[in-house]
This record gives sequence, C-alpha cells and structure tokens, in this order.
Amino acid sequence: MVIGLTGGIGSGKTTVANIFASYKNVVVYFADAEAKKLMNTSKEIKQKLIAFFGENTFLEGKLNRPFIADIVFKDKEKLQVLNSIVHPLVKKHFKEFVKANSHKHYIIYENAILFESNSYTNCDKIITVFAPLDLRIQRVVKRDNTSKEKVLNRIKSQWKEDKKLLLSNYIIENISLEIAKNQVHKIHNILTEKSI
Ligand code: ATP
Repeated sequence: MVIGLTGGIGSGKTTVANIFASYKNVVVYFADAEAKKLMNTSKEIKQKLIAFFGENTFLEGKLNRPFIADIVFKDKEKLQVLNSIVHPLVKKHFKEFVKANSHKHYIIYENAILFESNSYTNCDKIITVFAPLDLRIQRVVKRDNTSKEKVLNRIKSQWKEDKKLLLSNYIIENISLEIAKNQVHKIHNILTEKSI
C-alpha cells in the first residue's frame, strides 16, 4: 500500500515523514531527495541532460544545480524537458523500491508536489500536512536563511491548501511536534489495522 504524503512548503512534511519512518513496519521514499540523487548517479539522465542543456550541466561529475535552475526558472518549456528526462526514471526507481519493500505494512511516498505532479493518482491514500501560513513562513525563513518574499513566491507556485485538503484522506496539523506525533500514531493504527 502506497500512502502519499504532502503539504505546502514549511508545513513539516519531512518532519512528519521521519516520524513515520520510526515505525519498523513502515518505509519512507523521499521523492525529491531520490530525484536529486538519481540526477547525479544515473548515466541515462546524465547523457540526456548534457545532450539537451550542454556540457556545463555537470561540473566535475556533479550536477551543476545553479546552472540548470537558472535556465528552467526562466523557461517553462525547458522545465518540461527537464521533467520529461528525470521523471520517468524516478518513477521506475520508485516502482523498484515498492517491489523491494512489499513486505512492509505500507510505504510513505513523501512528495512536495504530489498533487501538482499528478502522482497522487497512484497512491492508495493521501495524507496532507497542514500548518498556518505565518508559521510555515517563519520556519522556512529560519531553516533556509531566506526572505519572507522568497518563501511567499514559492508558496504561490503550489496548489492552494483547501484544494489539497479536499483530496486528502488524512490531515496532520503540525503546530507542535507532540500533536503531530499523536496524529501520526492514530493514522498508523488505522493503516496497519486495515492492511492486516
Ligand atoms: P519544504 O517543502 O520546504 O521541504 P517541509 O514541509 O518538508 O518543507 P520541514 O523541512 O519538515 O518542512 O520543516 C520546516 C522547518 O520547520 C524545519 O526546520 C523543521 O525542523 C521545522 N519544524 C517542522 N515541524 C515543526 C514543529 N512541529 N515544531 C518545530 N519546528 C518544526
């Protein structure tokens, strides 16, 4: 069973995913982190990226993130090309991960753009992590040492919260860690009962 886990920037998805990861019979796939890893390790992705974006795409064998980010930020079509190169391989990698972990009670698929990328359609259930906007901005400003305006710009590129919540099976309110842990525990109990 694949459980999609998402939430807006700074809502605390990664924090909540790590709580789920503490259960022995659960495993978490961090989609963004895995995609970043694959961009550095997959020969196929590397070859395709260099063919389209040029030799500067990799510096000393590592993906030149600022170079790529600068190009795709300004050009939506190029962003689509980047996604069309990376996404199929990440999808394949995730399928293999699911197969290798089929003995687990369920797999948490943590993805910041679960809805925006349409990946939610492949999940059995969806959990959305929610926190008030002010708190999310405060957290990200502190974590990334960035400005409120930059965080707001990132938030604007994502789906509105109410739309995500309407499509979710469970909502975790992450205001305090203690409350979030309690909610994770309740959801875990429901999910493990159902899959016995
Ligand atoms: P992004 O989409 O930007 O990756 P995210 O939704 O994964 O963000 P996290 O990285 O989990 O969010 O949390 C953002 C920041 O807020 C982190 O520094 C994290 O430690 C902190 N944080 C998350 N939840 C709580 C909480 N309940 N109490 C205190 N700090 C928290």
